[in-house]
Amino acid sequence: MSADQVIMVGGGIGGLGAALMLAREGVKVRVLERAPEFGEVGAGLQLAPNITRMLDEVGVLEKILPMSVKPRRLVFMNAKTGEELSHLDLQDAERRYGGPYIVLHRSDLLNALLEAAQAEENITLHTDHKVTDIEDTSDGVVVRTADGDEYTGQLLLGADGLHSVVRKEIADDEPVPSGYVAYRGAVPVEDVDRRMGMEDVVVWMGPGLHLVQYPVRAGKLYNQVAVFRSQEFLDGKEDWGTPEELDRTYADMCEPVRVAIPSLHRINRWPMADRNPLPTWTKGRISLLGDAAHAMLQYLAQGAGQSLLDGAALARALPTLGNGQWDGDALAGALRQYESERVAAAGAVQSTARVWGDIWHVDSYVPMVLRDEAFRRRDTYDYHLVDWLYGPVRAGADDGADDGAESAAEVPTPAHA
Ligand SMILES: Cc1cc2nc3c(=O)[nH]c(=O)nc-3n(C[C@H](O)[C@H](O)[C@H](O)COP(=O)(O)OP(=O)(O)OC[C@H]3O[C@@H](n4cnc5c(N)ncnc54)[C@H](O)[C@@H]3O)c2cc1C
Repeated sequence: MSADQVIMVGGGIGGLGAALMLAREGVKVRVLERAPEFGEVGAGLQLAPNITRMLDEVGVLEKILPMSVKPRRLVFMNAKTGEELSHLDLQDAERRYGGPYIVLHRSDLLNALLEAAQAEENITLHTDHKVTDIEDTSDGVVVRTADGDEYTGQLLLGADGLHSVVRKEIADDEPVPSGYVAYRGAVPVEDVDRRMGMEDVVVWMGPGLHLVQYPVRAGKLYNQVAVFRSQEFLDGKEDWGTPEELDRTYADMCEPVRVAIPSLHRINRWPMADRNPLPTWTKGRISLLGDAAHAMLQYLAQGAGQSLLDGAALARALPTLGNGQWDGDALAGALRQYESERVAAAGAVQSTARVWGDIWHVDSYVPMVLRDEAFRRRDTYDYHLVDWLYGPVRAGADDGADDGAESAAEVPTPAHA
């Protein structure tokens, strides 16, 4: 049996984050990444207090804060009328939840994780290693790559994203296409015709579309994500969500939204898909994390953050097994502990993200009027809709609104709607 305890398939934010957190608890991890180098797409990422609190505990937050922006507000706008409907005060949210809300470039997070992983002697990193074959031999796992390399270990973790090959060992399902497509990218701030300030995350909600804007890399770059429901997809066209359709879809929106669209990169587009929640992520000595376990639509801006929470939960569960050969029953117990922390919690975020998308994208008149009215009536300091996600609420930080941890069950969050 090899010295590896964990073989991690995939070195994205989820895989590298989990490898790092496990290694720091003394677990030996080999990461196999199929790409020629570790990297991320050139776009931004939001990390909410439920994630930054944990990143602070594992010493990663201080590494990424200098490249991040702490926005003042998360603002919801009507993309057609230009009306500001509601906002979250993110400084107040930081006090309430004990962690900042930050936005940053994906590469800045990935590179911070990579640098920390490279410094860990318990981690071995490989690129150009595409895993094609997996075997659970009951006292271990064997993994083979496209180039014919073979590795053995005691546990295989699939962190290989939306189209995970590892997930096929656990579930017989496929990604669920949403019919929405995203264009995104972070560009120098001076290249954007921008009508909103640099201090906010702005979400423009429109009929079958939304645009998100925020600064990254300490304010040097501006990130934009334009998403829309593709009629070309509904019409069954093979090439759907084209740049021409992007322009057509946004042509009707208010001026600050329209002027943002030309600065979006046109070369890449991302057809949006998620997965249905699974009741278990584990089979024998194989388990999942990140998008491989719980790919979600991005409307709660939680996918990468949730993958980091998976890593933290694994790092609590696995080190209890010690340094020797991991007994199968003990490993099963540790993975049950991991799952009890994470499966239902991540599943709720997956399901809620779908509902949240439906609310943002309503496209007939009456539902739109009702949505806007509900947003307008929301008090800035009413945290009902996010306590369950960003909480628990810090002692003494509650302003009289419901306490997140205790009241999550009685609050009508979208998850329960
Ligand atoms: C438009 C958009 C906006 C988003 N915004 C946010 C946000 O603001 N906040 C947030 O938290 N999340 C956000 N997300 C979600 C986030 O991007 C993902 O949840 C996150 O990147 C998942 O990380 P991962 O490591 O699990 O998977 P991935 O990033 O997909 O990484 C998987 C890795 O596995 C490798 N791999 C795949 N197959 C193999 C194989 N066979 N062998 C070896 N390696 C393999 C891949 O090359 C890749 O490096 C957004 C997503 C989208 C699409």
